[in-house]
Amino acid sequence: MSKIKEQIYFDYAATTPIDPRVKRVMEPYLDDKFANASSVHSMGQDSANAVLKARDTIAGFLNCKANEVVFTSGATECNNTVFKGVSEAMKEYGNHIITTKIEHPCVLESCKYLEKRGFKVTYLPVGSNGVVKVSDVEKALTKKTILVSIMYVNNEVGTIQPIADIGKLIKSFRSLSSVPRFPIFHTDAAQAVNYLDCDVDKLGVDLMSLSGHKIYGPKGVGALYIRKGTLIEPLMHGGRQEDGMRAGTLNTPGIVGMGSAIQEIKKTTLRQAQGGENQENKRIKFLRDELINKILKTIPNSKLNGDKKLRVANNVNVSFKGVEGESLLMLLDGEGIAVSTGSACASGSIKPSHVLMALGRGPLESHGSIRITIGRFTKESDIKKLLAVLLKAVKRLREISFF
Ligand SMILES: *Cc1c(COP(=O)(O)O)cnc(C)c1O
Repeated sequence: MSKIKEQIYFDYAATTPIDPRVKRVMEPYLDDKFANASSVHSMGQDSANAVLKARDTIAGFLNCKANEVVFTSGATECNNTVFKGVSEAMKEYGNHIITTKIEHPCVLESCKYLEKRGFKVTYLPVGSNGVVKVSDVEKALTKKTILVSIMYVNNEVGTIQPIADIGKLIKSFRSLSSVPRFPIFHTDAAQAVNYLDCDVDKLGVDLMSLSGHKIYGPKGVGALYIRKGTLIEPLMHGGRQEDGMRAGTLNTPGIVGMGSAIQEIKKTTLRQAQGGENQENKRIKFLRDELINKILKTIPNSKLNGDKKLRVANNVNVSFKGVEGESLLMLLDGEGIAVSTGSACASGSIKPSHVLMALGRGPLESHGSIRITIGRFTKESDIKKLLAVLLKAVKRLREISFF
């Protein structure tokens, strides 16, 4: 048997490992606590209670009511439910949707699907810093706009979008309309949950998408926040689970895992609320800045993609002139270092990243970029190792480059 070389993981935006504490909480539900949460017997009620607890934890984190949290299979399902469900429920009020050019493929593809069915979609541009302008949202709003969907944190370049400001704008625009909560405001928060305030009232959102495996929970689970009274149709039809909003036997281990993952995040924010610093985010931000500053200083013709300040704590995305990102990824991989080019879904395709193109990077620059995302288990020594290997790898690729 071949021994797998130990890898250093720098791809936390693609997925996170399950936190061992989360795994421990999940284990009984993969074992003897297997009963269907919809079963009436006491074993079923044990499962139902575990789901209830997870729902309460997540509702507390979002500052919403427990019955406003709907469990799904992940953020892809949440986003599909939002686009298809809102357009169906709101079609008599309008046919216009606003989103951005830098959304996750599951949003952009849902939009394409709706365009084929007669809906009009405005894809807002972003500045070269990767941030959408509130004034552009304002200009795009019409009386026919039924849905505004803007991601909280971009998954490729880590830029933070001004969700609370857009929430305020939409609220003021709404007072002109007689239809309640029109247009509906959604944010895809999959990349934000670990690091940013996700209070749905402060943000002014009606819908929010969350994913379990981006927050040290398991894959195959997500949660959709739906503000009470929001007009939306379900994607899945069947049993009466989730008040009819999402049919299918509840994924009890996944849901329990997601609740536990949020609980771990809450522990750090609780310390913050008590006046202490959120040590974990501070630590990750420090490592990120060390990485960014050293790369820009020691590797000539390197450029940071995305705003340096309006940036989530764990993201580094850089372009190296005259270097092919895929080749760099392979070289690093050979040295036991896992990074990504563009988004995980875009890897393996030769199309330049739609996000980097939206930032105004040319195809060459886009192809010459890598995304390094750090997280809970990244150590200072990992950063040092990466810097040393990266420096050598870029140099080597430039020596053999034809650009
Ligand atoms: C990962 C991700 C998704 C998809 O989430 P899944 O749970 O894997 O379906 C959607 N949006 C963003 C911003 C993401 O980072």
